[in-house]
Amino acid sequence: MIHTSRPARRVLISGASIAGPALAHWLDRYGFEVTVVEKAAAVRGGGYPIDIRGTAREAVDRMGLLPRLTKAHVNSQRVTFVDAAGETVGSLQPEQLTGGEVGVDLEVRRGDLADALYTPLRDRVEFLFNDSIATLDDAGDAVHVVFESGMRRTFDLVVGADGLHSNTRRLVFGPEEPFHRYLGYVFAGFTLPNEFGLAHEAAIWNDPGRSAVLYAHEPSGRVHGFLTFTRDTPPLDAFRDPRAQRDLVAARFPEQVWHVPRLVEGMREADDLFFDVVSQIHMRTWSHGRVVLAGDAAHATSFISGQGSSVALVGAYVLAGELATHADHAEAFAAYERRIRPFAERNQALATSGGSAVTPGTREELEARNALLRDPEAAARALVTESALEGRAAHSAMELPDYSRAA
Ligand SMILES: Cc1cc2nc3c(=O)[nH]c(=O)nc-3n(C[C@H](O)[C@H](O)[C@H](O)COP(=O)(O)OP(=O)(O)OC[C@H]3O[C@@H](n4cnc5c(N)ncnc54)[C@H](O)[C@@H]3O)c2cc1C
Repeated sequence: MIHTSRPARRVLISGASIAGPALAHWLDRYGFEVTVVEKAAAVRGGGYPIDIRGTAREAVDRMGLLPRLTKAHVNSQRVTFVDAAGETVGSLQPEQLTGGEVGVDLEVRRGDLADALYTPLRDRVEFLFNDSIATLDDAGDAVHVVFESGMRRTFDLVVGADGLHSNTRRLVFGPEEPFHRYLGYVFAGFTLPNEFGLAHEAAIWNDPGRSAVLYAHEPSGRVHGFLTFTRDTPPLDAFRDPRAQRDLVAARFPEQVWHVPRLVEGMREADDLFFDVVSQIHMRTWSHGRVVLAGDAAHATSFISGQGSSVALVGAYVLAGELATHADHAEAFAAYERRIRPFAERNQALATSGGSAVTPGTREELEARNALLRDPEAAARALVTESALEGRAAHSAMELPDYSRAA
């Protein structure tokens, strides 16, 4: 049922990356009063190219963003694998690994997506940059918020869209540990000048448990670099210390082969370094009282799944739609969770079923993958795997509800 005379609802969203602005878009369209608080000084650029596939493509289409995102499409055509000695092993089309659909899926730089979401909103929605929620008091009929800046405001609802290490989740549900599932990898992502002659392609150097990746859009400009490695325990100390992050990563990539030294140097020089663990978030419930979580804060899938942004976009669409069509926020939160949880869990499972083709953990896994790559026909049969097929099914595993009458 659509409620036309709903009470005015003031919503505070913490986090202005993907989930936050996507939710703000829809809530603004449905007549909510939206404030977004972001701890960075501006919407953050950088990060890896992300895929918008299946159900998420339909979500950005409904937002009217398809033309802009189609223009920003990176159009990667090839992934080339290189062995520990720097010799080329073989190449694949990216979709052979992911199950993505050629000519349908979009691949855009994370920063381009964040900007496409933010720009149309910046004059319609209140954005508070350089700030963060310090305390939340859910009084039952409203949430009283004190910000780090000292400002005090009252909202009807608060949404934590503040990522894997969500501040809102910590304030409402407690420390991250019980919800955090570490997948055993640490990564550093950054950009460096494209001195490699690469365009619309990725090149991946591997040693067991380690990968060094160059990911290029245009033949000039900047290229994305990634250094990923296995580690038994998450390097919690390094999170507070950018220098320790760089030292930790550099120590795991001492080789003087291929472009590894240039990648390490680029990582040291980068001003857009993104360092994190490869982890997921699993929670029994995503809401408590008048506070609800969205995107990675609720159900991080990890970049191994390739679906973090897609699930965040779909979740934002559904959360806003349910809030617009229920007078009672608790019913809306329950409906949102019922619809999104199976989709999120199926996409989370993409990261944990089978080994990583990009960073095989053991020598045996790496050799098995390389043997397949050396024989393109065998690769087409085996690497283009059940996991790619399951990927394709998971990307589209949900049909978007129609909330158009709520707008
Ligand atoms: C700069 C950047 C680079 C990234 N690069 C990668 C990458 O290379 N590989 C990868 O797997 N994933 C990366 N991610 C994560 C990826 O964007 C998400 O997995 C996915 O898009 C889901 O988005 P989200 O909006 O839920 O969370 P996120 O994209 O993580 O966004 C969370 C937002 O909340 C903000 N925030 C955090 N704490 C607070 C706080 N206390 N108060 C207010 N705001 C807060 C953050 O600054 C960020 O803007 C990156 C995220 C960012 C912000």
